Amino acid sequence: MSFVLRQIQVKSLLSKSGIEGIDYCVNPYVGCSHGCRYCYAAFMKRFSGHQEPWGAFVDAKVNGPSVLERQLSKVPRGIVLMSTVTDPYQPLEKNQRLTRACLEVLSRHNFPLHVLTKSPLVVRDIDLFSTLSLVEVGVTLTTDDEKVRRLFEPHAPPIPERIGALQRLSQEGIKAYAFLGPMLPMEPERLAGMIAPYVSSVLIDRMNYPWKTATLYRRNGFSPWLNRDFVMDIEDRLLKALDGKGRLV
Ligand code: SF4
Repeated sequence: MSFVLRQIQVKSLLSKSGIEGIDYCVNPYVGCSHGCRYCYAAFMKRFSGHQEPWGAFVDAKVNGPSVLERQLSKVPRGIVLMSTVTDPYQPLEKNQRLTRACLEVLSRHNFPLHVLTKSPLVVRDIDLFSTLSLVEVGVTLTTDDEKVRRLFEPHAPPIPERIGALQRLSQEGIKAYAFLGPMLPMEPERLAGMIAPYVSSVLIDRMNYPWKTATLYRRNGFSPWLNRDFVMDIEDRLLKALDGKGRLV
């Protein structure tokens, strides 16, 4: 599959958030090369002008950090989430470094920060997280099974790399949490055991749009996971195994 990267200019990078407990969102990119099959952000393609499938294009907001600098000086201090409709540490961030440049701006203005990613590249920026007075870094995990991960998240980092990132963040004293969402077919007690030593909390979210990937479930023997009662049982097992660290969102 060919991949299209465009560099674009934007007028705004900081947007108000509708998420409880979060004041602003920052998305340094449009699109996400992780291309998860269930991605809730895939609707962004409509506004991008791209014809390529979701996962096959990314627009890099190259003036984003300077726009953010201007915007932060005009708004009240509040919690910023990076990111909501892209992964800020998808592979091209390694060279584009837009997420890092935004973090430098946020650090100068000392805005509280939440980061959410599937990528171990996040540990590159531990030096910047350490300069913020309030920071929480979330790493998304959706299953403990690499076969399931490859099926639903074909271009996202493998599970051991994500757990390695949580381990490193916790070793470096950065408050780290796991986001288990959307819950994919898993062995809940095993997944809880893999993450619990490295996180302060765990947020759990079920699949909100199961119809999007219903065929994947059915073709691979996961039909029970399309049943709400079945998934609620898994949630209960996860919460029990996490022994007070887990919370449904
Ligand atoms: S990492 Fe997140 S934003 Fe990127 S494709 Fe997967 S679900 Fe969508």
